[in-house]
Amino acid sequence: MNLHTLGVIGAGTMGNGIAQVCALAGFEVTLLDISAGALEKALATIGKNLDRQIVKQTLAEEQKHSALARIRTSTDYASLADAQLVIEAATENLDLKLRLLQQIAGVVGTDCVIASNTSSLSITQLAASVNAPERFIGLHFFNPVPMMGLIEVIRGLQTSDATHALAMDLAQRLGKTAITAGNRPGFVVNRILVPMINEAILVFQEGLASAEDIDAGMRLGCNQPIGPLALADLIGLDTLLAILEAFYDGFNDSKYRPAPLLKEMVAAGYLGRKTGRGFHVYG
Ligand code: NAD
Repeated sequence: MNLHTLGVIGAGTMGNGIAQVCALAGFEVTLLDISAGALEKALATIGKNLDRQIVKQTLAEEQKHSALARIRTSTDYASLADAQLVIEAATENLDLKLRLLQQIAGVVGTDCVIASNTSSLSITQLAASVNAPERFIGLHFFNPVPMMGLIEVIRGLQTSDATHALAMDLAQRLGKTAITAGNRPGFVVNRILVPMINEAILVFQEGLASAEDIDAGMRLGCNQPIGPLALADLIGLDTLLAILEAFYDGFNDSKYRPAPLLKEMVAAGYLGRKTGRGFHVYG
């Protein structure tokens, strides 16, 4: 398939980054969200990101305009009808994703590849919710998408070799390195990373050190580019909690129990950068 028309579902933290890198790589992108406000915010974020690249002289003004011109926004699933590949990057919630995947499958052709950017849900289970599940795959981008070089490509039990090959080709065209991972909660990277962040929250909750010192400790002592609590704020505490709950349920193992403080902060609406307050405060 000569891929040129993509759909991206969800214009939040991940969706706007995915739309940006796809448009910059020359794809026509339909960015869809249920919230018109989220779409407006996403376009503003993409514009700002591209401006930053212009200042750094890694992008020409003209490339910014042509990339923006390749992104159309919509709140109507029918606008995905001509998509050859749809990347779902909506809120991490199983029922919601099962519902919206059916909406996607209802409007695209049966040869349209459908991918999910889920961090923790089963690709096999998501695939089972669409007709022709062999065209379903996990495409797990990393945050912030324009900066991070990796995509995890996850095969469900049903995923065909052709779908896998197309996903690997897309990753290459986006200038990313792809690794192929098996379908277990968290795949490879989050399986290792998320329990480490949860442990940092437990350390903070126990009052062993301040958030600043925990982050400084892991940055300077382990050469991590960003401390685990600052990373939690970047990921979004609601997303992080959803991932941990999926691990806890998926492996039936108490070692993945979410830190009580994480649950409390999510209940309070302290979700990290996106709400201006998490383990740190953002201006
Ligand atoms: P987010 O909360 O920033 O954005 C989610 C967006 O989905 C919102 O704009 C919301 O309006 C939209 N949405 C909700 N229901 C919808 C529907 N029915 N149709 C269309 N849009 C809908 O979330 P996010 O952090 O961007 O996460 C999105 C996905 O990416 C999740 O599956 C998450 O696990 C995954 N992911 C997140 C990160 C991260 O660091 N945040 C990293 C990798 C993968």
